[in-house]
Amino acid sequence: MRGMSILPYAHEHVQKIRAYKPGKPIGETARELHMDPDDIVKLASNENPLGASPMAMQAIKRASQGVNLYPDGSAYELRSKIAKRYGVRIEQIVAGSGSSELIELLCHTCLGPGSELVAARYSFTMYPLMCQLFGATFVEVENKPDWSHDLRAMLRTISPRTRIVFITNPTNPVGTMVQQAELDDFMAQVPNHVIVAFDEAYIHFADPQPDTLRYVQRGQNAVVMRTFSKAYGLAGLRAGFAITTEEIAGLLHKVRSPFNTSSLAQVAAAAALDDEQHLRNSVQLVRSEMHRYERTFDDLGLSYIPSQGNFVLVKVGDGERVYSECLKRGVILRPMNGYGLPEYLRISIGTAEQNTRCLRALAEVLGEAGQQK
Ligand SMILES: *Cc1c(COP(=O)(O)O)cnc(C)c1O
Repeated sequence: MRGMSILPYAHEHVQKIRAYKPGKPIGETARELHMDPDDIVKLASNENPLGASPMAMQAIKRASQGVNLYPDGSAYELRSKIAKRYGVRIEQIVAGSGSSELIELLCHTCLGPGSELVAARYSFTMYPLMCQLFGATFVEVENKPDWSHDLRAMLRTISPRTRIVFITNPTNPVGTMVQQAELDDFMAQVPNHVIVAFDEAYIHFADPQPDTLRYVQRGQNAVVMRTFSKAYGLAGLRAGFAITTEEIAGLLHKVRSPFNTSSLAQVAAAAALDDEQHLRNSVQLVRSEMHRYERTFDDLGLSYIPSQGNFVLVKVGDGERVYSECLKRGVILRPMNGYGLPEYLRISIGTAEQNTRCLRALAEVLGEAGQQK
């Protein structure tokens, strides 16, 4: 007998969730285009084109012998290493399956019907998604005309119902930053009942890098979130961490599942932290190739938003069309309709070779559009 639909019994707010749309995977694109996956260039998810650090790869190989055993649920080695690196106590650190899990854990601890989360309009799409998941209200604050977070407006938006404010620095998808003085000013005025979460997934690419740990160390209700997915090149393994007060860390530990970071993720992340050379190479590549994109956009007469991340938003006209045309040429970019920016594409900075492919595809596609006019 066919069962009846169970949907009416699911949370109403869960039924309404619009799923997160990730960058199009290489395998799927290769199957659709009947292309060799090796010929496809994916510049859609801000991954590290140099791969993982060789030290992390060695650690993974060594640890692969032990995957029949459960991981250390407390991620002791990784958390001690992070604690030492940042000069904090191990009790202040929570490891997660990517920093998106830490975002979810934080939302899980304090969001529910009647509560609010404040974030900038142009920041990570996970925040509104989490509000839907927990039945909370997402309060979106317009970015400033230069596309950066409007921290003053965010302050004004805080209400007694506000539980979390997210500051994405640099922010995805636009790549802008808020600097120390503005952050200090914000943190001096933010009410105590609010947790301020600094989502610093792209902080390694930024220069200068504001110090947000100081707020945690002063005992403010702040959380600094980092990931191994971007500059460290471990997106597939899922590893990230939060540094916060012992009190907030304690809450996050209560909410997480007992083995939330895998054994391979733990050892690879710990090894990646030590590989400063790989990190420097990765950041250096992004900076120099970013300059090349900017020069080429100028030559092509395309406007773009100057970015401190490993990605750049460029204005191409009909974003969806240019995205599909580039896709046909084996170059996966990220359309921005979901963000309400249909004229833009987001390009993750790849290797010099990948970027050449991307720029050639863009010039071709935009050149054709020019001839049709
Ligand atoms: C990529 C990203 C993250 C984290 O991704 P994980 O792979 O889950 O660590 C967090 N915040 C922003 C803004 C990102 O772009």
